[in-house]
Amino acid sequence: MTSRLYYTDPSCRRFDATVTRVFEHQGRPAVTLDRTAFYPSSGGQPFDTGRLGGTDVVETIDEGDEVVHVLSSGLTAGSKVSGEIDWARRFDHMQQHTGQHILSGAFETLFENLTVGFHMGAEVSTIDLARDATPGDIERGVDEANRIVWEDRPVAIRFVSKAEAASLSLRKEPQREGTLRLIDISGFDLCACGGTHVDRTGSIGLIAVLGVERMRGGSRLTFVCGARALRALRTYRDVVSGSVRALSVLPGELPAAIERLQEESKELRKQAKGFQEKLAEREGVRLAAAAPEFHGVRVVVEVLDGWDVAGLKGLAAAATSSARACAVLVTAAAPVSIVIACSPTVPIDANVTLQQLTQRFGGRGGGKPGLAQGGGLAAAGPEVAGAARTLIESTLAG
Ligand SMILES: [Zn+2]
Repeated sequence: MTSRLYYTDPSCRRFDATVTRVFEHQGRPAVTLDRTAFYPSSGGQPFDTGRLGGTDVVETIDEGDEVVHVLSSGLTAGSKVSGEIDWARRFDHMQQHTGQHILSGAFETLFENLTVGFHMGAEVSTIDLARDATPGDIERGVDEANRIVWEDRPVAIRFVSKAEAASLSLRKEPQREGTLRLIDISGFDLCACGGTHVDRTGSIGLIAVLGVERMRGGSRLTFVCGARALRALRTYRDVVSGSVRALSVLPGELPAAIERLQEESKELRKQAKGFQEKLAEREGVRLAAAAPEFHGVRVVVEVLDGWDVAGLKGLAAAATSSARACAVLVTAAAPVSIVIACSPTVPIDANVTLQQLTQRFGGRGGGKPGLAQGGGLAAAGPEVAGAARTLIESTLAG
């Protein structure tokens, strides 16, 4: 059985211990100790890392009565070792975890809205509230939580029997039997918990809720405490100042400025579409007039850049309605897009011609005898265009 130093002294960073067992955990060297300050993952709080006997502790696991230390290289059974936990990582966990107690306590005190889930991530943490919380509720809850932080209240560890616990008003019903470890945030919150916490609420610094989403009838709050809150503030500052510079507006004007840009770009897209349609109409007529006549049909075969498929269709329609014509329009670079159109009296099936081309060059597409379109043909535009001209002229000649 490992004696867990963090139970009574969560501020313990360095300790001496004896290696009680040496083994492999999933192919990595591992040991148990007679005593440890390393916290194993449990209750939503991630494990500690650090140094032990000159090697790295890469993971700490709770296994019944024992704490398993997974190492980067092996140690000897029975040896005396010194351990030191990565304090920056642990202190961060303590800030987030104590902040969670206070945040959960605030929502229970103010709104009787219980916390039913807690997860501490590497960047942000979440609590799940049983009921929906309005934006106003969340602001009030966060204000109350920070008031408790700034009052710098003591956070004490108390051990009580289950019977004693029944007479206390705990925030949530304890799950385990026997002696209970209570975290007592003076005059505010009392909760059974095996994790590590700061010893005064002031050490949390700040609790900030970054987002909220609806979850199974309740609300999931994403929050950060302490140094993470400072990091989040810096990130937001950089994002806002970058956007403000790009748009030349004040921070408060950003949402309206973005909305305005979206409106403008929608309007411009509409205008561009209108211009393209007009241009396609003129250009299609011009192409048909300039095309050579073959067996009484104007054969328009062009490789064109700068047009989308809708534009090519407009061009082809204008060409084949202004003259007795067959039009094949392809984009320049492989894989090419292609539009084929024929006037009603021309003895060419646009769709059949397209299928012959996709059989040869790959890609896909379809359509009707008068109009077909395809894409993904794996050849350059001029090669596809040349093949199309040969197909059409041999059909007309036949
Ligand atoms: Zn806790």
